[in-house]
Amino acid sequence: MKNILNFSNVNCKHCYKCIRYCPVKAIKMEKDQAYIVEDLCIGCGNCFKRCPQDAKKIKSDLGEVKEYIKLGYKVVASIAPSFVGDLNELDYGLFLSALKKIGFYKVEETIVGAKMITEEYKKYINENKQEIYISTCCPTINYFITKYHGEMSKYLIPVESPMIAHGKYLKEKYGQDTKVVFIGPCISKKYEALEVNNRGIIDKVLTFEEVLNWIEKNKINMSTLEESDFDNPPLGDICLFPIEEGLNINSTEIDTMKVSGLYNTTNLIESIEKGELKNVFIELNACRGSCVGGIGFKNKKGIHYRQKKVKDYTRGRDLNESFLKELKNTYESIDLSKEFKKEELKLKKPEEWEIRDILISIGKKTVKDELNCGACGYDTCREKAIAVYRGLAEPDMCMPYMKDRLEALSGVIFEITPNYIVIVGEDFKIIDINRSMTEVINKDRKELIGSYIGDYIDINYFINALYNRRDVLSKRMSWKECNKELIGNIINLKEHNALIGIYSDITSEENQKEKFKEVKINTINTAQRVIEKQMRVAQEIASLMGETTAETKVILTRLKELAMKGDEED
Ligand code: SF4
Ligand code: SF4
Ligand code: SF4
Repeated sequence: MKNILNFSNVNCKHCYKCIRYCPVKAIKMEKDQAYIVEDLCIGCGNCFKRCPQDAKKIKSDLGEVKEYIKLGYKVVASIAPSFVGDLNELDYGLFLSALKKIGFYKVEETIVGAKMITEEYKKYINENKQEIYISTCCPTINYFITKYHGEMSKYLIPVESPMIAHGKYLKEKYGQDTKVVFIGPCISKKYEALEVNNRGIIDKVLTFEEVLNWIEKNKINMSTLEESDFDNPPLGDICLFPIEEGLNINSTEIDTMKVSGLYNTTNLIESIEKGELKNVFIELNACRGSCVGGIGFKNKKGIHYRQKKVKDYTRGRDLNESFLKELKNTYESIDLSKEFKKEELKLKKPEEWEIRDILISIGKKTVKDELNCGACGYDTCREKAIAVYRGLAEPDMCMPYMKDRLEALSGVIFEITPNYIVIVGEDFKIIDINRSMTEVINKDRKELIGSYIGDYIDINYFINALYNRRDVLSKRMSWKECNKELIGNIINLKEHNALIGIYSDITSEENQKEKFKEVKINTINTAQRVIEKQMRVAQEIASLMGETTAETKVILTRLKELAMKGDEED
């Protein structure tokens, strides 16, 4: 698992836009979070371009590159020729000096590799008779064909990409222990560098954005730098390689076509499959406008701006013939061949009944129910059902189904609740009213819809909620017309220009309370009477007890006096 491209958990808001724009549906939704399935992905970056939350997460090699420099490796940069499209006003000579300043040992142009593979293409086309030849510079195109249109792999010219060709050349030139870092606008090169047969050729891949940010963070004072040039001599108009006119095989034998963008590529493949095209060399690139349309640029300029920058730059890069001769001598000893073959993807194929079962589970009982609206990210309900079968999608991603279900559920609640519910417009006319309330009003629902709410219940709370733009909550109210006691809530549904009144009927509780109050008063009164009676008895007892005690006291005092008297007489 390379885990090069993915989405951040925090930002993903499960809108399915990435799925919609993924040409091969390599995205899995799980618990409302999008994930890229690496085996299925072709590295086109469309999902990142389209994600409204900018939830992209691209693995960066920057830390490792800095480590190489720190450890004292000779780190050589291979710069993709579209680099000028990302420099804004910065002079390219200063950019190259800045790269040296942050630690690169040498800085070369990837077009050296482009020149090598163009020569190989010419040789291959001369030596092999094919109906169709497809260029193989763009890894995304190579993955698209080998993974999804395997039978067309035979048309891919079996030659390495410019990046790999240049990597091999640089290792020959500067030594195998050199670290080669490709810097470009392309994220699928991150995959390409890690292919089993490419290990150790390109050690790391950085985007222009990563490198420009790195330079910025180092706060290099550009005014103190002197302009420098690439460590390879110029190679003329091969610098046009990153734009659609770039790859020129100069053949009079066959036609050449330039096709870019995956939408156009799909059309082209359909044409080839139908046998509509013959004797043609096709320069094919996944990004619209070719590499100048890649997603690794820091600036957000358009592809035509970048195209112009590349053309301007090319004008100053006159071909150095002696370097070209020297280059030919060197690369002749380098193996630039590459084999492309159909890749078997592990995608389970559902039986028809299994697809039908899934469709039924999301309310598509007949073909007519299949809306094919695309809201789930898939073009058709059938495609979505197949994705569910493969574990890539979840049934509840079907928006119309979920909406119907929710409406049905809320409809049931609306109808079966004992609460009284009424929805009124801002003109205070009834839009809808539930059964409980119509029963109390004792009128037909149809008759009530469109009539004024004020004709049936206190309108003041609705007026308050509408004009104060505030909900009226938990208000005790008497519905005199219907002899009911209520707790009412009037909610202002601003985004729907409506108000909803929800009333709980507390009449029986209030009646209960009244009865209880009555019983309580009766009980208190009875108790009061008993207490008063008891008090009277107590007072009588007390007074009787008081008399007896007084008499006893008189007798005892007399006895004491007699006793005392008796003592004195003795
Ligand atoms: S586009 Fe994809 S990754 Fe971005 S928020 Fe929507 S579902 Fe998530
Ligand atoms: S990079 Fe391209 S192929 Fe991969 S998931 Fe994103 S849109 Fe799909
Ligand atoms: S109806 Fe549902 S399953 Fe069909 S395409 Fe629309 S959202 Fe997807």
